[in-house]
Amino acid sequence: MPVSDSPHHRSRQLQQRAERLLPGGVDSPVRAFRAVGGEPPFVERAEGAYLFDADGNRYLDYFGSWGPMILGHAFPAAVEAIQQAAARGASFGASIAAEADLAELVTKCFPSVEKLRFVSSGTEACMSAIRLARGFTGRNFVIKFEGCYHGHSDAMLVKAGSGVATLGIPGSAGVPAETAQHTLALPFNDLEAVQQAFAAYPGAIACVIVEPVVGNAGTIPPAAGYLEELRALTTEHGALLILDEVMTGFRLSLGGAQQLYGIRPDLTTLGKIIGGGLPCGAFGGRADVMDFLAPLGPVYQAGTLSGNPLAMAAGIATLQELMAREDVIYPALEKTTAAIADGVAGIAREAGVALTINRVGSMFTWFFTAGAVTDFASASASDTAAFGQFHRAMMEAGVWLPPSQFEAAFVSTAHGAAEVERTLAAARSAFA
Ligand SMILES: *Cc1c(COP(=O)(O)O)cnc(C)c1O
Repeated sequence: MPVSDSPHHRSRQLQQRAERLLPGGVDSPVRAFRAVGGEPPFVERAEGAYLFDADGNRYLDYFGSWGPMILGHAFPAAVEAIQQAAARGASFGASIAAEADLAELVTKCFPSVEKLRFVSSGTEACMSAIRLARGFTGRNFVIKFEGCYHGHSDAMLVKAGSGVATLGIPGSAGVPAETAQHTLALPFNDLEAVQQAFAAYPGAIACVIVEPVVGNAGTIPPAAGYLEELRALTTEHGALLILDEVMTGFRLSLGGAQQLYGIRPDLTTLGKIIGGGLPCGAFGGRADVMDFLAPLGPVYQAGTLSGNPLAMAAGIATLQELMAREDVIYPALEKTTAAIADGVAGIAREAGVALTINRVGSMFTWFFTAGAVTDFASASASDTAAFGQFHRAMMEAGVWLPPSQFEAAFVSTAHGAAEVERTLAAARSAFA
């Protein structure tokens, strides 16, 4: 086929232009498709469960902007709220009523969040929550888990998941060893490792931060009793428990993983869905801890665009819809996602391909391995070349999966029976 007739011709041109101006042509590494091969389409618009690229191709979307788009793209109430807010002015750098409006919705969904502060990303939320935990406890060490991603702040780029895992970088260049020396990275789902760390660093561990359901090494659920025991150990040793619900918040249930598993953390970090697709994050929790923040307390934290009016408007519209239709939305997401995840796994099995499905609610991963995936080491046993081949075949069939074995796929309320059928048909051709 001559290049000018290529169904990806325009995207290819845009990629070449972008590569001259942006490193790798992207503003976030995993978008470059390096882990799966193939060419990343340039998106022109999106609606419901579908993305439309610059060449007019349509893709069924299974990454939902990496989590935020639980109501599908261009959800009408969110679009209208953003338009109305934009007409009143994009940013003031002064307080607006909408900040407390959204805060009130968040505290209703998350009873453990008594007070919160808005920021502009999940990275900022996690970085700030850790500073607060250190300031509150007067301790330096932080426990995190291998394969968990808590944003790209220096201290958290130790054995991190997501793009860091995808690229096989053990951390990152540019992070001084001194900066990471207080970060203890332990295997997920291994309580003994946590007990040993508390014994090795008595009175020195400020907090444990964890993705309650890991999404950034692919989907990995907590073992039975694991989160409960993390709660008990942190309490016993005077450390704070931070649940990083940037991905799981409002997705696994209205009240996130902490509602699903019945865990009350000291602090929670939020992002993604909370901003309805606009840059927004938040961290919050116990009022006595949150009051350690400036201007009330000694822990400094700030943001020029924090509590941005457009982000607040999009977040309010999104949470209002989730809250109003909670009893319909979450069971429907569960049912649709099960049909997709199990359906494709069945097709793979018939084709003689070994797949392990990990799924919690509307987040899931097809790991190309026969063994159970319970931590980063077992996730890493996956055949990433086979995943890459599957990814390219699904793209060819018009289904856009997250472009890495180590990222969770997401289903939205705009995915219905027709999308299940379309996905299974694409999988049949991919495994043929
Ligand atoms: C996405 C994510 C982050 C980082 O959020 P950004 O908005 O990309 O900075 C942090 N923690 C978890 C669990 C995430 O999934």
